[in-house]
Amino acid sequence: QTSVFGINLTNWSMEQLLAEIHSQASTPQAPMRQYSFVNADCLNISTRNAQYRQCLLKNQQVFADGIGVRLACSSKGAVLKDNLNGTDMFPRLCQLAAANNLSIYLLGASDGVAQQAAENMQSKYPQLSIAGCHSGFFDSQTHTQANQDVIEKINQSGADILLVAMGAPKQELWLEANKAALTCKVGIGVGGLFDFYAQ
Ligand code: UDP
Repeated sequence: QTSVFGINLTNWSMEQLLAEIHSQASTPQAPMRQYSFVNADCLNISTRNAQYRQCLLKNQQVFADGIGVRLACSSKGAVLKDNLNGTDMFPRLCQLAAANNLSIYLLGASDGVAQQAAENMQSKYPQLSIAGCHSGFFDSQTHTQANQDVIEKINQSGADILLVAMGAPKQELWLEANKAALTCKVGIGVGGLFDFYAQ
């Protein structure tokens, strides 16, 4: 563990992260565990957004993404094992999910984007099970009907892993606010990842 701006970062390799996701997603009825990637911009946001900061400080694993955070860590004498981010993780995660019969739900981005990303990954990994997709533009306040409907859809899909692409800090705050109601065992904020893989 290394702390930057008061946020504890977990210094794992990509293999360690994937092994943890595999184990957590394979545990029946495990309460959702949330994982976050933070880059320098996210750390800046955390200094002025108390809710986001609290969310990162709370019992979840936070991983360092990008050269800015790496430099901040090395100035404290800590050498990060890997650069961890959703974009590099996604194909590896799809491979792992396909090989182990774990399903993934994609929540976020504009209409149709998650669906396109899902189709692209499914053609690459034919055994991959994408449990469902939903755009990231809905009234995502906790008690709205729209939010309840999204949670219901995700739970009914039976997904093991939920990727949320609504940008930081919205995606982290949404996961934090809704994880008790979600039956997925893993929740990860992934930023603009679906746009990238929908290309
Ligand atoms: N987005 C969303 N709902 C929102 C706001 C944004 O689904 O209310 C999506 C947006 O379409 C894009 C992603 O969130 O796919 C944000 O990507 P960005 O690269 O800005 O996020 P970052 O990686 O910088 O956190």
